Amino acid sequence: MKEILLIKNGELALKGLNRGTFEAVLLKNLRRALRPLGKFDMHKAQSAVYIEPVDHTPDWDEVGERVAKVFGLCAFSRASVVEKDLGAIQQAAAEYLREALLSAKTFKVEAKRADKRFPLTSPQLCAQVGGYLLEQYPHLRVDVHHPELTVWIEVRESAAYVHGPQQEGAGGMPVGTGGKAGILISGGIDSPVAAYMMAKRGVELTGIHFASPPYTSERAEQKVISLLKKVSEYAGHIPLYIVPFTRIQEEIGRACPEDLFTLIMRRFMMRIASRLAADNECGALITGESVGQVASQTIPAIACTDAVATLPVFRPVIGMDKDEIIALSRRIDTFDISIQPYEDCCTVFTPRHPRTRPRLEQVEEAEQALPVEELVEEAVQGARRLRVYPD
Ligand code: ATP
Ligand code: MG
Repeated sequence: MKEILLIKNGELALKGLNRGTFEAVLLKNLRRALRPLGKFDMHKAQSAVYIEPVDHTPDWDEVGERVAKVFGLCAFSRASVVEKDLGAIQQAAAEYLREALLSAKTFKVEAKRADKRFPLTSPQLCAQVGGYLLEQYPHLRVDVHHPELTVWIEVRESAAYVHGPQQEGAGGMPVGTGGKAGILISGGIDSPVAAYMMAKRGVELTGIHFASPPYTSERAEQKVISLLKKVSEYAGHIPLYIVPFTRIQEEIGRACPEDLFTLIMRRFMMRIASRLAADNECGALITGESVGQVASQTIPAIACTDAVATLPVFRPVIGMDKDEIIALSRRIDTFDISIQPYEDCCTVFTPRHPRTRPRLEQVEEAEQALPVEELVEEAVQGARRLRVYPD
């Protein structure tokens, strides 16, 4: 018996985006996701994508796990490939879905006939296959409204396909169709979630992480890499800049009022990230900020931070509660890494009483004590570039 993976992306809204581009990028991403599992032939016809293993039988569970992390498809299922002949289809349905048919009490058959040369109409095909299954599995009843099991029969150009329940896809848009953005990634809970959310909208990511050795350790850096590895299972490989931030933090600590420390530090992050992102064709920045979570995330503080960004700054978790962000971080499996207790540069230098209502003029005045351009240039030049791949 030949099996394939049948992917449905037909229902996806393609507003404002060219369908051809969308599908080409989706296919590329599927190929990349499955490459470690062997050779697959992929082609699309009508609103489906067919994924066929070439000369091997893959671990279908693993195929499913990987496909479930590719953005841009709504549903998929394993399917049995059958000759376009009623008897063959009936037999395949009875055998291929044997376990599901045995454990269900009610079922229905849904048939789609894309190949109009096939002699039975869809309703006739449903009736014929349904009748056969009732004979083979006498414990079953037909329930067209709320069946426990739906048996799908699709008669397409090249063959007929039989499959059972579909698995839900990751939704979203294929990564690469939404432009590029730089994600400011810390070791915390929020920024990996923000990264995931923008990747889901088709945005290709470049990571930017600020490290302050010796105050922050090698292990803190490894933590960021582990987080991005998880995100890259969805987003594809991610270039990562590790930016030396020690001197900047020390200079701020030396020359600026303590209550503005965090804010001035965040403005440096924005300046440097804007530069690195733009050098990598990124059109925007992403952060994991959420209003009110900490002192640097009040609206006046965010306004001061944004004043120095030269790219639009997206904050996908801005309106989410911590609980909601944590739930998502658990789902994408970053939570357990995020809560490992390694220090972040933000936690090393923390003012006792940060300003929650900073005024931009005050901040700008305080920064005059610093050689801002020189510090930014030095950090940009000193950034190390790595590439993070999924495991
Ligand atoms: P997170 O959980 O993402 O660390 P947080 O609630 O701890 O967020 P902050 O530490 O104030 O909040 O940081 C806010 C945002 O600034 C982060 O979500 C991230 O986008 C960015 N950021 C903070 N620290 C760093 C860092 N060391 N390197 C890169 N970006 C950072
Ligand atoms: Mg943090």
